[in-house]
Amino acid sequence: PTALIWFRRDLRLGDHPALLAAIEAAGPDGTVVPVFVFDDRLYGPSGDPRRAFLLDCLADLHEQTGGALVIRTGDPAQVLPRVVEELGAGSVHVTADAGPYGRQRDAAVERALGEVPFVRTGSPYLVAPGRVVKRDGTPFQVFSPFSRAWREHGWHAPAPRPDDVPWATGVRSDDPPPRPDLDGVRLPPAGEAAGLEAWARFRDERLLGYAAGRNTPGTNGTSRLSAYLKYGCVHPRTLLADLAARDDGGESVRRYTDELAWRDFYADVLWHRPDSARAYLKPELQSMAYDSGPHADELLEAWRTGRTGFPIVDAGMRQMLGEAYVHNRVRMIVASFLVKDLHQEWTVGAKVFMEHLVDGDLASNQHGWQWVAGSGTDASPYYRVFNPITQGKKFDPDGTYVKQWVPELRDLDPKYVHEPWTAPGGVPAGYPEPIVDHAHERQVSLDRYAAVRAR
Ligand code: FAD
Repeated sequence: PTALIWFRRDLRLGDHPALLAAIEAAGPDGTVVPVFVFDDRLYGPSGDPRRAFLLDCLADLHEQTGGALVIRTGDPAQVLPRVVEELGAGSVHVTADAGPYGRQRDAAVERALGEVPFVRTGSPYLVAPGRVVKRDGTPFQVFSPFSRAWREHGWHAPAPRPDDVPWATGVRSDDPPPRPDLDGVRLPPAGEAAGLEAWARFRDERLLGYAAGRNTPGTNGTSRLSAYLKYGCVHPRTLLADLAARDDGGESVRRYTDELAWRDFYADVLWHRPDSARAYLKPELQSMAYDSGPHADELLEAWRTGRTGFPIVDAGMRQMLGEAYVHNRVRMIVASFLVKDLHQEWTVGAKVFMEHLVDGDLASNQHGWQWVAGSGTDASPYYRVFNPITQGKKFDPDGTYVKQWVPELRDLDPKYVHEPWTAPGGVPAGYPEPIVDHAHERQVSLDRYAAVRAR
């Protein structure tokens, strides 16, 4: 028989339970057809960096399958039954999708396939979203107890890489869409081999320094694996198996495992609350006063383009424009600045991030923003307002990160880098004065918050 493996967020061949299921369904004399469907509902709103990265991943997969990857375009609920009919396929295999749109789409595809089995095996997560619940069966609202239960639940060992896949050849394939012109944005190399290599380098050279180095954006302290995890070039199981073999790694191994647990946690929150991609998890914050009008738009544009006059904020936004990535600490700082200093709704910033980040992911991004905005899960009180100056001094003490992304400040003595207006010559030419007074805006935020609380 012929079995279809429909690739989505699992663009690899190793550690791929759904692919193994397809191979088994095909049997010793059958063939496996690797399919990718360009669905405008997902591809359309993606943003150029993610589009380009996805296309690069698919080019890699095409090569890995010996040129067998079949590309089709359109609504999967119409496209897949047609492919199945064309090839007389006996089953369609996927890695389960946990996102709001993916779940609906998969249900529609399953209906449209009728008698042909639509087989979900595995998920992009260590534990499939929805599976870790409290004793009373309700979902966790807070990370720490979730992560304890998540660890207790445990996870599977990596699945073996298949030796020889009987790929079907000669199946008609559409051309992929053209690769967008990124205008100088530098993306990491895409695909499974590149992801595994990035992981191996981090594991062997930097993992043991992760606990100490993960918060300093001027050092290469984190793994930079997020885009590979997003597109499933690497499954987190592969990473955890390596981490488990390094029990001596202590705090760093524990921290890294925790970050993978955050990724699972946010997918779990989205599973239980699909509306949390847009709706405030703490609804009272929705009714708070936010700024709008021409002046607010001008400030938003200054934020978006890295011209706020607050060096760590500008460096972060320019990193986003330069390499479609921002360090985690700086994501928190720029997000806090937009919500608490410029009084914009978190959804505004989340949209900008989704447009520009190569790792842009609905669950991690929307809940990361909600957390910063004080409307998310966990103890993230609204009144905790990041101070961009002290954050800069603490996490980028010698200004390495700022100087990397803000050339106007390169010649400043490190002691002035985070407050260039205090430098003897004043703010260097070409760099903006601060667009707001942080102390004042902080108070405005707190007052607006108090007003909602008092209602
Ligand atoms: P590492 O520190 O090496 O962490 C390893 C992996 O753990 C990451 O690749 C990621 O998959 C996961 N991880 C780490 N931190 C988090 C976290 N806080 N939440 C969920 N998963 C995490 N991450 C995304 O993958 N996509 C996003 O769109 C995204 N948007 C964010 C928006 C905001 C406002 C904030 C505060 C955080 C966001 N994050 C997002 C989480 C985090 O910033 C990135 O995962 C991380 O910076 C990626 O770099 P890394 O791979 O070097 O991370």
